[in-house]
Amino acid sequence: MAKKNPLIRPLVHDLHAYVPGEQPKIKGLIKLNTNENPYPPSPRVLAAVQSAVDGRLRLYPNPTAAELREKLAKFHGCGAENILVGNGSDEVLALAVRGCVDPAPNTSYLFNSASAWRVVVQYFSPSYSLYPVLADIHGARKNALALNPDFSLPDLKELKRGRNWNFNAALSLITTPNAPSGRGYATADLDKLCEAQQGVVVLDEAYVDFATENALLLALKHPNVLVARTFSKAYSLCFQRVGYLVGHADLIAALHKIRDSYNVNGLGQVAAEATLDDLKYYRANFQKIIATRDWLARELTGLGFDVLPSQTNFLLVRPPRFPAAQWLQKLRARKILVRWFSPPELKDFLRITIGTPEDAAALAAAARKIAAAR
Ligand code: PMP
Repeated sequence: MAKKNPLIRPLVHDLHAYVPGEQPKIKGLIKLNTNENPYPPSPRVLAAVQSAVDGRLRLYPNPTAAELREKLAKFHGCGAENILVGNGSDEVLALAVRGCVDPAPNTSYLFNSASAWRVVVQYFSPSYSLYPVLADIHGARKNALALNPDFSLPDLKELKRGRNWNFNAALSLITTPNAPSGRGYATADLDKLCEAQQGVVVLDEAYVDFATENALLLALKHPNVLVARTFSKAYSLCFQRVGYLVGHADLIAALHKIRDSYNVNGLGQVAAEATLDDLKYYRANFQKIIATRDWLARELTGLGFDVLPSQTNFLLVRPPRFPAAQWLQKLRARKILVRWFSPPELKDFLRITIGTPEDAAALAAAARKIAAAR
């Protein structure tokens, strides 16, 4: 254990930071570990960004991403006052924690009081591993709600019975469709979960463009629901860091108060606006990725993998013959990088991002060789 530096808050000293997926620069590597889109941004988006790179870089960007918010409002059938844009959806998730959750005092008396829920961040487990880190950074209490063994949502009655805690939190973070399971949740079930909460619910729809349904309407129906979206995955813009929240004007106005003044960089705003002008290009890519996902699921099933149903741009699979951690290394030796997670409920699985049909064919060929090795 490193010696404590008294200049650093004990909370920060003890913090386990979020670990992002590897970004190795290995020549010829097929990179299927961080759910990036295999297709580039549209030519119109690239041209818009390129033509914005000039002397104007010396100026501050629009502080509220006003034009982008107008376009997003039109896209979602709401008003610009219902939208907050951030530096990736990671930032807007952090803002939701800061804006809605009281930090927990070190004493435990509050925990027994009627307002104990005000210091709690809850989330299903497994889901996006950033959530507990955001709670820890804020000094909030965490309530990890176990999913069923097949990663489906537990019954609401069971949750209310307090199997985990008392199922009421200042902020509930729900990845839908979920990561890393890939499972989609029915909007009707999410609606019931939202209604059961006294606090705010964020529906993190980072992967929703690859799914058959979305829950955006819940953000416009309930005053306590925010939907988080990102340009990173479906819109091939990880590099530019643009994500946003949709929700009730009161919640959105509160979060605007606590964000950095210029939290969305100018080129990111330009790129996201141009993206919304060229949705046809992206919709064609969603269809290609979904077709490749379904092809790969069939191939891997044929090789003895247990493939979970996916509503996302990745597959969670239980490989045959060797432990999943060994598969990770064996695939890496063949220059294919996928993701493995160590928690007990995930350690038997690999998460594979859907790339191009060529990437999928290379993965299937490598998996065939590994599965057949003596
Ligand atoms: N939510 C989920 C579920 C994710 O997997 C990710 C990507 N790691 C994000 C949000 C954040 O995406 P970004 O910050 O690039 O918008």
